[in-house]
Amino acid sequence: MRSQHSQARILRRSVLVACLMLLPLLMVETFAASDLTAADLSTAGATTGVSKLAAKPVGQPLLDVIGTPDSDRVPQTAMVSDCRKGYVALTFDDGPSIFTPKLVNTLERLEIPAAFFIVGYRVKGHRKIVQQVRDAGFTIGSHTWDHANLLAVGPKRVMRELRSTNRALAAVGVEKISLFRPPYGLTNKRIRKQARSLQMSHVMWTADSNDWRGGGPHQIANRVLAQLRPHTPNIVLQHDGLSRSMFSIRAVPIIVKRAAQRGYCFTSLDQRGNLVIPESDAPAPGPTPTPSALPVPTTTVVPAP
Ligand SMILES: [Zn+2]
Repeated sequence: MRSQHSQARILRRSVLVACLMLLPLLMVETFAASDLTAADLSTAGATTGVSKLAAKPVGQPLLDVIGTPDSDRVPQTAMVSDCRKGYVALTFDDGPSIFTPKLVNTLERLEIPAAFFIVGYRVKGHRKIVQQVRDAGFTIGSHTWDHANLLAVGPKRVMRELRSTNRALAAVGVEKISLFRPPYGLTNKRIRKQARSLQMSHVMWTADSNDWRGGGPHQIANRVLAQLRPHTPNIVLQHDGLSRSMFSIRAVPIIVKRAAQRGYCFTSLDQRGNLVIPESDAPAPGPTPTPSALPVPTTTVVPAP
C-alpha cells in the first residue's frame, strides 16, 4: 500500500516536471499563432495601411506604400504610421540559414523592407534561400566570406573576403553588391577605402538587438525599441544566422507594431547605405549625418557564429 502511494507520488511529480518543461514550448507556439499581419498594423493603431490594405482597407488609409507596385515584392518604404518620429531600417546579419525563409515570410506578410548582410561561404549551400531573399525585393549586402575580424588580417585577405563573397552572390544571380557590414562592426580607414574601391559602402547600426545574448522575442524587441531615436536614421541590427535566431525573427512583428504605434515608419537602405526617405519627409539640403558616417558602435565584440 505504502509503495503504491509512493509510486503515485512519483508519477504526479513526473507529470508536473514534464508540464513545467513543456510550458515554454507551448508559450512559443501561442506566440507564433499570434503573429501579426499587415492588416493588424492598421487595427493596432497605425494610422495608415500598406499595399495589401489598399485591396482590403481597414479604416481609411492615409498614406500609400512607396516603391514597387508589384504586390509580390516588399515596398521600399512601409508607411505603417504617420512617420512623425522618422524612419527605421531593419538589417539582419550572418545568414543565410534555415531560419531565413521564416524571416522572409514574416517581413513579406508585414510588408516591411529589410537588408540582409550575408556571409559568403554560406551562399552555396543556401542558393534557393538567397534567391528567395532577392526575389522578395530585399536588399542584399556582404558580411565577408567567413565572418573574419578584418582588423586582425592583412589587406590582401580583406580584398579576398570582399571579392569572394561578391562572386558567390553573383553565382546565384545577385549582382552589384554595394553594401558591406564588417563583422563585429570592426573596421578602419584602410578597410573603408578597400570597400570603396569595390564600390561598396559600409553600413553600421544604431540599435543593437543583442539577440545573440539571449532573451525571448519580447525582450529582444524591447532592447531595439529602447534604442530608437526620433528624427535620426535608425538602423536595427538583428541576426538570421545564429542558433537563437528564431527568437529574433519572432521579435520582428513586435518591433514593427510598437514602433508604428510610436510614429515610426520602416524603410530600406539606398546604395550608399543611407535610409530611403520619401521626398515629402526629406531634410532640407545641407550637411546631414548619414548612417555610414556614424561612429563605430561601442558594442561588445560578438562571438563568431
Ligand atoms: Zn556577424
